[in-house]
Amino acid sequence: MTSTTASEFNVEQGLMELPGTPARWIWAFTCPEPKCACRTAVVLSLAGERELLLELGRPVADAWLRDATYGQTAQDLKGVTVFAVDLDTHELFSPVGDAPLNAAAHPEVREVADRLDDDVLDAIARVWEMGKGQLPLPDPGADGRRSR
Ligand SMILES: [Zn+2]
Repeated sequence: MTSTTASEFNVEQGLMELPGTPARWIWAFTCPEPKCACRTAVVLSLAGERELLLELGRPVADAWLRDATYGQTAQDLKGVTVFAVDLDTHELFSPVGDAPLNAAAHPEVREVADRLDDDVLDAIARVWEMGKGQLPLPDPGADGRRSR
């Protein structure tokens, strides 16, 4: 039996570089609720370096790990492009609530969303499964797993 709790899941799994140029990173936060079937991921994005997104996105990661309102934390971030995406339909949403996002009014979101190709969406879908404990973590060597 493998079960992964949110605290054992490495939130940095969701940090990935987008294909293409200029260099741009995303940090995807999938729903942490093990029994929830929603397929929406909150995505932070920033042009440039991984380390900068890691630093700016940290409050969202902390909120996600605490089971707090990470969508709201994401929405409040400054200097980072933030949106939510449905991994199956590719629809865009505001990071808080379930209102569809009008990408035409948010060209920076459109630009990021256009670079979410199938490989990226597959990678986020794997993070979704890992976050819910449905996939073994990439490093199965860790023996110190707590069982619930
Ligand atoms: Zn959910």
